[in-house]
Amino acid sequence: MKIPVHYAADLDRLETWVKYRNGLCRDCRASCCTLPAEVRMGDLVRLGLVDEFEAEGPAKDVARRLVKAGIVERYNHRSELFTLARMSNNDCVLLDGRTRRCTVYEKRPDTCRNHPQVGPRPGYCAYAPKPG
Ligand code: SF4
Repeated sequence: MKIPVHYAADLDRLETWVKYRNGLCRDCRASCCTLPAEVRMGDLVRLGLVDEFEAEGPAKDVARRLVKAGIVERYNHRSELFTLARMSNNDCVLLDGRTRRCTVYEKRPDTCRNHPQVGPRPGYCAYAPKPG
């Protein structure tokens, strides 16, 4: 399907998401980076936010430190998933609000690498063009 120029998906209504194809991210305002990003300890190590030694210790201690630092919003003990913190407008704390680009792209978490193949609606994304 060709996407009309001013079409913007509604993040909260999966039926409005568009079928993902290469190049779609180029002029998107990175609406996927406003969804809660769940990451694992290995992602935090790759990001350089946790070192190998600390990663061997209790995850709750890591979570406490990263929540305090404003990097992580919460930690789920059962699933062992950390949720990255978001700004008041829901932007991921690692997103550049001006360029709408990930500031850690090369080291981004697996959740982000796998989106939208894995996500709320596999193969579809909440494409919304940048204003202007
Ligand atoms: S880590 Fe990067 S790609 Fe992942 S949600 Fe945050 S800004 Fe987006």
